[in-house]
Amino acid sequence: MANNVQEQRPVRSEGVMPRTKHQAYKDELRVDFRRRCGYCDDKDVYSGGKRGFHIDHFKPKSKFDDLKTTYSNLVYSCPYCNIAKSNKWKPRVGFIDPCSAEYENHLLRDERGRIVPKTKRGAYIHKELKLGLRRHEILWMMGRLKSQKTEIKAAIDAASTTETELRLLRVFLDIQNRIDSYFSDFEAGG
Ligand SMILES: [Zn+2]
Repeated sequence: MANNVQEQRPVRSEGVMPRTKHQAYKDELRVDFRRRCGYCDDKDVYSGGKRGFHIDHFKPKSKFDDLKTTYSNLVYSCPYCNIAKSNKWKPRVGFIDPCSAEYENHLLRDERGRIVPKTKRGAYIHKELKLGLRRHEILWMMGRLKSQKTEIKAAIDAASTTETELRLLRVFLDIQNRIDSYFSDFEAGG
């Protein structure tokens, strides 16, 4: 079953006070993008939190000097997508603002968590942002594992679970809890 790349489409807040440096918008961007990269949807906790994440200029600052500090041109981005995108720019047929509904028309997430192009334009974006990197698939799967904790806990509590199953489930739960605790250090301030 195919899903959208983004679990939820990011929405930029209206009326954000203009600032003189794009870095000064990072807190607002982090909230508006739900702590995820606009392009690949990776969570910032897996890149060291807020500090590890970048701010991408959707229209590159080297070509659009007037949009350098314009909030609507900024994308909360993982370092992988931002560095891959760099100052590449192709008008009309190139990148799509990840806050636009059109973004999902060109890319999808398959059942294994891989990002796959749906169109020619999607293929361009996929290639130029290196969206085929395995880390995007792995991090998506890590999110799946985390969300299965509730089911694992229920299985541990179920009367029908055998001793062997119980032991395995506890090992899984313990590992997942330790992973979550490691990444929780990056959740808050980062
Ligand atoms: Zn990314």
